[in-house]
Amino acid sequence: MEISASGDRITADLLVVGGGISGMTAAIEASEFGKDAVLIEKEPFLGGRVVRMNQYFPKMCPPVCGLEINLRRIRTNDRIKVLTLTEVTEVSGQKGDYEVTLTVSPRYINNNCTACEECEKVCEIEVDDEFNFGLNKRKAVYFRNMAYPSLYVADPDYVKDPKFKACVDACKYNAFDLDQQPQTVTVKCKGIVWATGWKPYDAAKLDNLGFGQYDNVITNVMLERYSAEEGPTSGKISRPSDGGEIKKIGFVQCAGSRDENHLPYCSGVCCSASLKQARYVRAQYPDAEIHIFYIDIRTPGRLEDFYQELQSDEKVFFHRGKGADIKETGNKNLLISAENTLTGELTEHEVELVVLATGMVPNAATDKLPADTPLDDWGFLLPDAPSGIIGAGVTNRPVEVAASVQDATGAVLKALTAERS
Ligand SMILES: Cc1cc2nc3c(=O)[nH]c(=O)nc-3n(C[C@H](O)[C@H](O)[C@H](O)COP(=O)(O)OP(=O)(O)OC[C@H]3O[C@@H](n4cnc5c(N)ncnc54)[C@H](O)[C@@H]3O)c2cc1C
Repeated sequence: MEISASGDRITADLLVVGGGISGMTAAIEASEFGKDAVLIEKEPFLGGRVVRMNQYFPKMCPPVCGLEINLRRIRTNDRIKVLTLTEVTEVSGQKGDYEVTLTVSPRYINNNCTACEECEKVCEIEVDDEFNFGLNKRKAVYFRNMAYPSLYVADPDYVKDPKFKACVDACKYNAFDLDQQPQTVTVKCKGIVWATGWKPYDAAKLDNLGFGQYDNVITNVMLERYSAEEGPTSGKISRPSDGGEIKKIGFVQCAGSRDENHLPYCSGVCCSASLKQARYVRAQYPDAEIHIFYIDIRTPGRLEDFYQELQSDEKVFFHRGKGADIKETGNKNLLISAENTLTGELTEHEVELVVLATGMVPNAATDKLPADTPLDDWGFLLPDAPSGIIGAGVTNRPVEVAASVQDATGAVLKALTAERS
């Protein structure tokens, strides 16, 4: 790959925006096809939302299984250049001949870092950990799984804090560089794949379902973090209000999805995600009852086997009904009211913890995309954009990992053949 001496101009075949599973796949596929790719990611780590999962369906393996193999393939690949902490500022040109301006934010840590942890140990500044949805605190200097490069990163909001000096002083390797400034990098490329993925729907907008109001109402993405060994509770699923054990848990499907007032579409993965999470709970609490409130269960293709397996579990109860209302009872338990969508019958169930199965909102819906890259009504990228930019994964539609990988592979071909049209 052609990179100028100052490192601020790069020539490549493909630019991939977003370093989740879709973006990583796109960069790898391009390289295996004999093309040079620049992969950019706004976070200091790769892997996107999948890194925040505890396990992934259908195989129920931890995300590191697939992601670390990809990470290794990227690290040892001369055809891929990765820039983390990086976002697109401007795109000009057209299919076959783009010039893209990137802004690389400072990490404040240089390559001397050995990830020895000493700076983190002495750091007195603690902030909500966004990776764990604020369920715990992290330090102002920290390390993430899948960090790229494999270095610590300093929080830009705190590097000037007088207390931060202790972190710098603790470093034996001279790895802090607090004078780092944002850098501008220009990429000349022929094709662009946009793979910026999704964020969870904001459950606080669902005022009838008690999120943010009642301690023991959490969301599906939070349950992934509670279940993960390296998560805020070291993998223990318990009631946030008192750390108590779970005897009965309720999953409220389509929380905000397929709802004209929130997300009119189905996110396609939430049913399978709740079935997977029911298994996390079963593994920790063999006697716990799991109640799933649903409009209809959508488990396309091979995921149907997964559904059938859970249906035969005597501790898992499926209730046809959209969760209409959640109220707290005296002991911080929760009363779920649901209306059967076929019979109209109203039911009420008391549980100790509620998990809202919220859907996926494309980041493209709120990001500023380059001109002539139209989105549908919900913020997913439309095919055949005049700008020639090709979407991949959840940028295009709500899909699971396997479909994201397939999508990314196809996107590379489309982005690179676009140069000839
Ligand atoms: C509760 C829940 C559980 C799930 N569990 C499973 C499961 O078990 N199995 C399964 O197959 N699927 C599961 N999924 C779906 C899975 O999360 C998605 O298929 C997957 O995340 C799609 O990957 P992606 O790369 O398209 O997007 P993402 O994972 O969102 O990655 C996008 C990347 O782009 C980066 N980015 C965003 N904006 C910018 C920008 N402007 N510039 C640069 N970078 C940017 C992000 O930081 C991120 O790293 C689940 C989904 C939910 C909601």
